[in-house]
This record gives sequence, structure tokens and C-alpha cells, in this order.
Amino acid sequence: MSTYTNEQVAHLAEGTLDWETTFRMLSMPKDNSRFKQYVEALQKKVSFKDKIVLPLAPHMYIVQTAKKQWVIKCDCGHEFCDYTDNWKMHAHIYVRDTEEAMTEVYPKLMAPDTQWQVYREYYCPTCGTLHDVEAPTPWYPVIHDFEPDIEAFYKEWVGLPVPERAS
Ligand SMILES: [Zn+2]
Repeated sequence: MSTYTNEQVAHLAEGTLDWETTFRMLSMPKDNSRFKQYVEALQKKVSFKDKIVLPLAPHMYIVQTAKKQWVIKCDCGHEFCDYTDNWKMHAHIYVRDTEEAMTEVYPKLMAPDTQWQVYREYYCPTCGTLHDVEAPTPWYPVIHDFEPDIEAFYKEWVGLPVPERAS
């Protein structure tokens, strides 16, 4: 039995659902129909046929390829790398490390001092979607986001069979 309508879940996937409903939906544990609906709604939005295993960001997913490999993919179909790899190392990176570059996009008074903080923007090399922004100190290495424990997520959180993966 599904707790939320397909329309609500489609809104969640579009990011147009009101915050209260989003919060309620995401904070309800063990609702596998909701996760399934969510992934199905995302699957309709993307241009590729690979099965979405886990959404990583609004326009980025871990998908299962035809060869049963798990890779990180953009909305547009651009393939970054294996899901255990740091996709940021495969993105186009733009570093804002001058006041001019900062104030292009951030209000002057809010722009940080580039001596101690820079902005690194990570873009899809194919479609140019901005996938992430980091605000580290200039010398800080590229941050590798945590590697999701997909098996545990499927088994313990959503109660669905783990998608197959070629080793
Ligand atoms: Zn792309």
C-alpha cells in the first residue's frame, strides 16, 4: 500500500513539493513504496535507460549499466566514473579564488576572503550542469563525499532487493 500519491512523489523528484511534506516523506522509515515511487519518478525524467540505484544529487545518480556495473551518471547521460571513485575528479572544475570571480555570483558583502576560502564549482563536462560547490580553504584537497553503503540502504532502510552488481 502506498502512502503517497505518484503526483506527490513526482513533485518530490522535481523539487517542487512543499518543505513540510518533503520532510514528512523522507523522515518516515521503512517505506519501500515511497522510495520505489521516487526512483520511478526520477527514471522518467532522465534521458538514459540505465536503472537508477540511488540518487546522489538533484541531477546525479548511481545507476546500474547494462553490464551490471554501478557508475555515477548525470541527467544528460554523461558517465563520470565507478561509484566508488570520486566523481569530482572527472568533472570540469572552476575555482573562484579572486574577489572578481567571487562577486560575479555572490553578493559582495557575503563573498569570503579568498586568502582563506575559495569556491570550487564542479560541472558536468557534457551538459554543463553545476553539480556541487565546495567552499574549502585554498590548499584543501578535493573532498570525496562519503561512499554510500547501498547494500545496507536497500536492506535496512527501504527493504527492497539490492540491485545486481558485477564484481
Ligand atoms: Zn550532464
